[in-house]
Amino acid sequence: MARYTGAVCRICRRYGEKLFLKGDKCVTRCVLERRPQPPGVRSPRRRKVSDRGLQLREKQKARSAYGLMEKQFRRYYDEAVHQAGVTGENLVRRLEMRLDNVVYRAGFAESRAAGRQTVRHGHILLNGRKTNIPSARVRVGDVIAWTPLGQKTGLFAYAKEAVKNKQIPQWLEVDQARLTGRVVGAPTIADADARFDPAVIVEFYSR
Ligand code: SF4
Repeated sequence: MARYTGAVCRICRRYGEKLFLKGDKCVTRCVLERRPQPPGVRSPRRRKVSDRGLQLREKQKARSAYGLMEKQFRRYYDEAVHQAGVTGENLVRRLEMRLDNVVYRAGFAESRAAGRQTVRHGHILLNGRKTNIPSARVRVGDVIAWTPLGQKTGLFAYAKEAVKNKQIPQWLEVDQARLTGRVVGAPTIADADARFDPAVIVEFYSR
């Protein structure tokens, strides 16, 4: 699946918000704090952003935060619409239950991009089976762990330390000693990244 490979800090600068796409560097050396202006040549005219423009912006922020291309993000939205319940919540649940996101949320990787790479490199077991598909759907009751080879990598050593300070969401349980994680509930809308509003994204697509 294709993904954005450009400079990620440009995305934060475009939206004027920290999206924490680079992990620890976002806390220690954030580019946005040094260069808060949007990237590219700036027009001297300030244009008023329409409601549609604001909705688009919200959707793009969420898409960038999860590192997805439009086609895949739209597919998740379409799935969410056809499920029972609140569409925004269904969308959040689907995004949060991606394997690369669960690896990140469990504190096994410093960012979603790093979580994606950890999965792609075959370091993660999902219910005891090696899975190298970052978009794999994780369900309640599933267990993630490191492969024996993964446990010999620097990523594992990093995770072992990082997990001690990581704020783990309520829907996830992490065994810090064995560095395994279990999904104990479904993420709710309150678990959405505070940097975007799922309801506005639903408004954007439902027009
Ligand atoms: Fe965004 Fe992180 Fe870059 Fe700061 S360092 S601009 S939060 S990606």
